[in-house]
Amino acid sequence: MSLRDVTRIITAHRQLEGGGFVVRRPLPTAGLDHLDPFLLIDELGPVTYAPGQAIGAPDHPHRGFETVSYILEGAVEHEDSAGHRGRLGPGDVQWMTAGAGIVHSEMPTAELRERGGRVHGFQIWVNLPARLKLTRPRYQDVPAAGLPTAATDDGLARVTIIAGEALGARAVIETHTPIVFQDWTLASGADVTLPIDRAQRVLAYVFEGAARVATRDVAAGQLAVLGDGDAVRLEGTTGGRLLLLGGVPHGEPVARYGPFVMNTEQELMQAFRDYQTGRMGEITRTARLS
Ligand code: MN
Repeated sequence: MSLRDVTRIITAHRQLEGGGFVVRRPLPTAGLDHLDPFLLIDELGPVTYAPGQAIGAPDHPHRGFETVSYILEGAVEHEDSAGHRGRLGPGDVQWMTAGAGIVHSEMPTAELRERGGRVHGFQIWVNLPARLKLTRPRYQDVPAAGLPTAATDDGLARVTIIAGEALGARAVIETHTPIVFQDWTLASGADVTLPIDRAQRVLAYVFEGAARVATRDVAAGQLAVLGDGDAVRLEGTTGGRLLLLGGVPHGEPVARYGPFVMNTEQELMQAFRDYQTGRMGEITRTARLS
C-alpha cells in the first residue's frame, strides 16, 4: 500500500454567488480552473441571516455536469423545469445530473426568508465525460436518514457516505463514474487509513476545526490536494470535520462559462442558444401564496 502525500493546500476565498449569498470557495481559485473531475467546491456559509436577508439562486440553467447539494444547517427549496420540486434539510443530499440541461431554482425556505436563521452547506460540481454531457437529467435525493454511516472501532472517526465506500459501508447514491464524497468527523486521536483507488484524484476540504491529512495539518477553510497512491491517512488533532472527495479524471478539454460546462467553445455557444430558445425548459409555477 502506498500512502498519498499532500501536494498542495489551497485556502478558500470568500465569494458572493447567486442572488448574493456568501460562499467559501477553494475551487476554482486563482490560476486553477478545476481539479478534474471536480469543477467547483462551494461552502455556503455558515452564515446567520436576519429576517428578510436570506437569499438564494433564482431560476438558472445547467448543462454538462452534476451538482451535488449537501445541507448541514438550514433548508433549501428547489424546483425545476422537469416538474421536480422538493426541500432539503439538515443532512440531506441532492445529487443532480444536469446532463442535457435543466432550469432550476435553489432558494432558502419561506420560513428562513421571513424569520432568518442559520445556513450552512455545500454545493460541489462534478464534471461529466463527453459521452454523458447530454445524458438525460437525473435526480437522486437522499434524506439524512438514508445515508450510510460508519465509524472506526474506537469511535474516534465517523463518516457519512454520500458516494464511494469506507469502513465496510457503501453509498446508496449511484454515480456515472467512480466518485468518493464523504463527510468525516475526526475526534482527537482518530487515525484511519482508507484505500482509495489509484485512478482517482483525491481532495480533502476541512470545514470545521482542524485535521491532519497525510501528515499535514489542515485548518478549516483549506483544501488539501493529494498526490498519487492507493490509500489516504486521516488523523484527528484538535477535532474537526472534512469532506473527502475522489474522482477519476476525465482527461478531456473543459470549456466552461457560468452554468454550462462542455468540452468546446462551440458546445458552450450551443448551450447558450438552447437555453435562450427555451430548449432547456422553464419552471412552470402555479399561483402560490408565497
Ligand atoms: Mn444551480
